[in-house]
Formats: sequence, structure tokens, C-alpha cells
Amino acid sequence: MQTQAFRHAGLNAVYLAFRIEKKDLPGLLEAFDLLNIRGFNVTVPHKENILPFLTEISKPADILQSVNTVIRTPSGWKGYSTDGEGFIRSLNENGVSVKDKNVLLIGAGGAARAIAVSLAEHGVSSLSVKNRTPERADRLAKLVNAFYPDLPVDCNPENPIPGTIIVNCTSAGMTEGECPVVEDDISGAQLVVDIIYNPPETSLMKMAEIMKIPVMNGIGMLLYQGVEAFEIWTGKAAPIEVMRKSLKKSLAFI
Ligand code: NAP
Repeated sequence: MQTQAFRHAGLNAVYLAFRIEKKDLPGLLEAFDLLNIRGFNVTVPHKENILPFLTEISKPADILQSVNTVIRTPSGWKGYSTDGEGFIRSLNENGVSVKDKNVLLIGAGGAARAIAVSLAEHGVSSLSVKNRTPERADRLAKLVNAFYPDLPVDCNPENPIPGTIIVNCTSAGMTEGECPVVEDDISGAQLVVDIIYNPPETSLMKMAEIMKIPVMNGIGMLLYQGVEAFEIWTGKAAPIEVMRKSLKKSLAFI
């Protein structure tokens, strides 16, 4: 997706994957400096490990203490977290604004945290978090409230308020037949988003469709977190359709 985008934009750049041990991070960054590498993505388990090596981080990344996109600046490496913004942009593309909406997040892991911070930043009227391990939902609520003290965050929600946007941020659904909720949990929802992108249609999405609730999968979020990264690295508008086409082609091979 990124290499296709660079090519389309006429940039002499490629996007490559490397498997790195934590102990090798300092040497890696020195090597990247020497090689004039412009930027990179970081994934699990290095989203937190990379923090000590950065000279600057964006506000969401600072709140989350997690980074997935890094750019070299004259003063050092700067980190960003693009997952949450990618999620918001994928909704906007489908004509959905989260401003003044009630949103229920199922799950409280890394993706839920990133999405929660962006939802708070984009003016939701309330946030609810439901998680298999309730202590983690509680921790997420506290994190959001530490930075957005006026936002109501409920980590012990009953039935969702009618019109709520419900987002599955758990990995339950990656395996056929798995579903993190029952019908009652989603009745009256305005939209059900499953951030899982493989499979492209989860059991939760099938359940919502039968209940005539609009659904979205996680391909848009995956696309737009990459679009954000492209724009950070290049300072140019991303060729979104080129990236979408390339991403869909890659996913077809999974
Ligand atoms: P994570 O930090 O490991 O968190 C996993 C979450 O899923 C936790 O809340 C966990 O609950 C819950 N969970 C796991 N198995 C469950 C089950 N069987 N029933 C109920 N809850 C369960 O993972 P993550 O990074 O947040 O990723 C979560 C999902 O989002 C993955 O499927 C990932 O592929 C997807 N994702 C998509 C994008 C995108 O761009 N579309 C980006 C990031 C992640 P406990 O706290 O109780 O363990």
C-alpha cells in the first residue's frame, strides 16, 4: 500500500518490513539515521519500547504512551499514533461524524485506547467501555478522564442508549463464529463498526445486518492509519484510491 502510494506520488521510496528484537532498537535507530531513512511504522511489541528513543511525540501518542508512526526531524525522531485518527477518517468517509454522539467501545486493549482518545478529541458526547476484563475498561476510562475530565465515560454500561455507535475493538471475531456481544447489546444502535479486517465480515457484522443496523469493517481504519502515516512522512496528500486498491489486493491473499 505504501510503496504503491510512493510510486504514484513520484517519490523515490519503498516501504519494507523488518523483524527487530527490543535489544536492537538503539542500534537500529542509529542505522536508520546513517541510511537517511525518512520514517517508519512500529507495531506490537515495540509501540511502547520505541518511546525512549524519540525526541518529540504528538498529543495522542503522549496520552497513549504508544507510537506507531515515526518521522526523522532535524532535532531527532518524532512519534505519532495514527490508529485513532485513521478510525475517525474511515467513519467520516462514510458520512458519519462522531461529534455529539454516544459511542460504546467493546474491548479495552491498544486499539480501543487509541480510538477512545480520538473520539474524545473529536467531541463525542459520551463514551462507554465494555471489556471481558472489567479492570482494563476501568483503566481506559481513567486514562480518558485524566485528559478529558468533562467527558462522561461509563465503564459499566447497561443497555446502550438508542442511536449509539458501537465499535468492536476486541479480537473476538477473527475466528469464525466468535462474537463479543449478544443481540440485546447492540439493539437500537445507529451503526456497528468492527475494526477487524480479516475476515472482512465478522459474526458481529452478520448479526447487526440481520437486525437492519448499518455495519462497517476495519479495512477503512487500516487504510486511513496508513494514509495518515503517508501524509506525516511526505507532507503530501495521500493517493487514497491507489492505497485502497493495493490494500484490498493484499488482503485478498491473506
Ligand atoms: P489487544 O491490545 O491485545 O486487546 C485485545 C482486546 O480484545 C482486549 O480488550 C481483550 O479483552 C479482548 N478480547 C480478546 N479475546 C476476546 C474474547 N474471546 N472475548 C472477548 N474479548 C476478547 O489487541 P488490539 O491491538 O487492541 O487489537 C484488537 C483487535 O483490533 C484485533 O482484532 C486487531 O486486528 C484489530 N485492529 C484493527 C486495526 C485496524 O486498522 N483495522 C488496528 C488495530 C487493531 P481482555 O482485556 O479481557 O483480554
